[in-house]
Amino acid sequence: MASRISYLLVLAVWIGALWIGLDFATRPKPVPTAVPTTEVDWADFFAANILPNLPVADEFDTPLRPPDGAGAVITLPFLEEGHLGEDWTTAPGDAALGEPVYSLSDGWVSVAWDSSGFGKVVFICYRLADGRYPPFVEVMYAQLQEIDVAAGQFVKRGQKIGTVGNANGTYKAHLHWEVRQTVGLGLGAGFDSRRDGWLGPSEFLQAHRGDRFKQPLLPRVLTKEQRDGWGTDY
Ligand SMILES: [Zn+2]
Repeated sequence: MASRISYLLVLAVWIGALWIGLDFATRPKPVPTAVPTTEVDWADFFAANILPNLPVADEFDTPLRPPDGAGAVITLPFLEEGHLGEDWTTAPGDAALGEPVYSLSDGWVSVAWDSSGFGKVVFICYRLADGRYPPFVEVMYAQLQEIDVAAGQFVKRGQKIGTVGNANGTYKAHLHWEVRQTVGLGLGAGFDSRRDGWLGPSEFLQAHRGDRFKQPLLPRVLTKEQRDGWGTDY
């Protein structure tokens, strides 16, 4: 009797398993509710896949005449007339053409491109140490004459990335550079009434210089009267 009951139990389990199996086989497959598209949000992709792999940048130097910018001047400061960056140069007229431009810190080149309006441009992403704000910046180095780096390349602090240019004679020689606290803003216009996402370059350098933070930055800001003949975006 007991063996007949266990035989029937085994048979019942088999039939049940077969029925469930057939049911799964014939049931329509569920459709994912979030259908992936071909478009990838660059900021999300950067945060998830690139930022964690970047070196931590805990010291920052000036882009011209590092580490303190001795001999460089600021010909157009941040936010004057809506300026979203700073213009730096080392000599009046075009005498600064070919002046080396250096990476502020250890970082990763996100863009190296020959634009039209901004000359050659290099964008470098820098990851700040944990607990620092913002967690990263993307720095735009614009109006370059030559570029020494390629997109996707890692660079070191103080590594030469290009030279100061003049956008094929549109301006006098200067470096226009911007510090952005997000990626993917593109070239931008250089000027805007809104500054969301942009940081003051000198202010950023001073805040994140590292152990040498007590040394002041040396570039002086030329007054409007002093700027005559010097390279700016005008
Ligand atoms: Zn500028």
